[in-house]
Amino acid sequence: SADGEAAVAAVERVAERLERERDYLTELDSAIGDADHGGNMARGWASAAEAVRELDDPDPATVAKATGRTLMSEVGGASGPLYGGSLVFASVELDDGLTPESAVAFAETYLEKVRDRGDASVGDQTMVDALVPLVHTFKKSIEVDGLPPVVALAKAVDAAERGAAFTVPIRARKGRASYLGWRSVGHKDPGATSTLFVAESLLETAR
Ligand code: ADP
Ligand code: MG
Ligand code: MG
Repeated sequence: SADGEAAVAAVERVAERLERERDYLTELDSAIGDADHGGNMARGWASAAEAVRELDDPDPATVAKATGRTLMSEVGGASGPLYGGSLVFASVELDDGLTPESAVAFAETYLEKVRDRGDASVGDQTMVDALVPLVHTFKKSIEVDGLPPVVALAKAVDAAERGAAFTVPIRARKGRASYLGWRSVGHKDPGATSTLFVAESLLETAR
């Protein structure tokens, strides 16, 4: 379907962006982690782009599922299961196609799964700090404000950017960075930052 082809293009766009951001994300992860987030994301999404290009007659759900499966198998550590497992789980929301409603359901289910798996809340200096404002703003913009999906996504990306910035002054309470205690203060979370880059790439594809 046309939406399936657009989903493949979205994964390719994410992969290109994360390849460009590889060194930056690694730099962020070297300050408060083990300096592998740039490589994890660039490698994982490059493999995902390869995998979705090989699908015949892709639709949004199969693209999301294949992307999630590839991230789960290619990326270890914390971010592989969080990104990959949650994508596989949320992909069922797209089984009947991509609509504003199913896109909101997909985003909410993805967030719910990240929270279930990682047990992190807003303020723990993780990807959740970007994801919560991203998903909540997207949902509100569509369901309450009745905005077109691309406008809703643009507002959601702005909210995610503020969420990623909010990880700087706070202390990590989940993941590797939490081992640093107060020394994690003053650093931007790598996973919140990569989540923002993924959302920005989706917006660029949607425009
Ligand atoms: P690892 O820490 O295993 O090396 P990555 O470096 O690829 O994995 O990913 C680190 C990112 O994963 C962190 O910046 C954070 O955003 C996210 N993360 C780690 N633990 C959790 C958690 N429990 N819940 C949500 N996100 C988490
Ligand atoms: Mg790491
Ligand atoms: Mg690691």
